Amino acid sequence: MPRSIQVTMVNAEKLSVARGQLGPKCAMCGDPMIFGEALVIDSEYYCQSCYEKITGAVSSSEPKEVAGLRMD
Ligand SMILES: [Zn+2]
Repeated sequence: MPRSIQVTMVNAEKLSVARGQLGPKCAMCGDPMIFGEALVIDSEYYCQSCYEKITGAVSSSEPKEVAGLRMD
């Protein structure tokens, strides 16, 4: 099995230019982001607020299982 070089391949339709930088769009709300602030769940990019909604990663909420969230 040949191992491919780790290159981030991104669908061009999901790209945007936020603050002069090429970056992904949030898969949930469509907000443009830069790669430095994008959060990845299951190969999709999400903004901070959507990520928190999906994962429940808010300090006041109770922990819960997130389907499809890969930790490997
Ligand atoms: Zn979002």
